[in-house]
Amino acid sequence: MMTEPAIDRSAAAIDVQDLHKYFGDNEVLKGIDFHVDQGQVVCVVGPSGSGKSTLLRCVNRLEEPTSGRIVVEGVEITDPDVDVDKVRSRIGMVFQQFNLFPHLTVLRNLTIAQQRVRRRSKDEAVEVARTNLAKVGLADREDAYPAHLSGGQQQRVAIARALSMSPDMMLFDEPTSALDPELVGDVLDVMRDLASEGMTMMVVTHEMGFAREVGHKLVFMDGGVIVEEGDPRKVLADPQHERTQAFLSKVL
Ligand code: ADP
Ligand code: MG
Repeated sequence: MMTEPAIDRSAAAIDVQDLHKYFGDNEVLKGIDFHVDQGQVVCVVGPSGSGKSTLLRCVNRLEEPTSGRIVVEGVEITDPDVDVDKVRSRIGMVFQQFNLFPHLTVLRNLTIAQQRVRRRSKDEAVEVARTNLAKVGLADREDAYPAHLSGGQQQRVAIARALSMSPDMMLFDEPTSALDPELVGDVLDVMRDLASEGMTMMVVTHEMGFAREVGHKLVFMDGGVIVEEGDPRKVLADPQHERTQAFLSKVL
């Protein structure tokens, strides 16, 4: 019997407690504690291999945590009885690789899951899709196929697709890392707009300007632990930990 999750939007959006994750003998997350408040933008930074993607993937159960608790809007999603699909449908995810369906138009990429998972009618799905395409500045490209769009446009479509599921929060895993530098700004602008509308966001990124301007909190990870966290402006200007200093001196 699946429990019907009692969503509590007055609780923290995401609350992670003593999260451990092993791949075989390799302990990749070594006791992570942190939370994301409703409407907060939390940027996660750190060197490659530090466990950022694994952390994000645990939050929507794309990875099974080995131990610890993750509570999303009052629902313990690490509870084995919880309906993972329901949890996931409230969390939008955007990856470095856009993962659009290449054989479907932009519009169909945005409507298919709405109809199949959200059970919306075609007309409703199209309306929601068009609203979100306009939001990412691609209202005029609904009939295009992904291959005919730039990487930046494809990523904006991927964001619009995630938004079309009406998620309570959005997770971004290095959304601009695969893009040519001149295409990064448009994607960050879309994310900045989302943040200013109050969307709860967890963003793995190397874009320190974005973290400084948009982030409410910066979390620095290294070796599977959170080394340091705080106000992005403070952490970036005056990192306390040696490992944070070393990392920032390379990326800033
Ligand atoms: P980051 O996103 O910070 O670069 P990851 O979370 O991708 O780090 O990876 C952290 C560690 O976990 C790395 O050592 C990586 O090799 C390992 N890892 C990630 N995914 C898997 C997997 N599916 N199977 C085995 N090891 C993995
Ligand atoms: Mg990663």
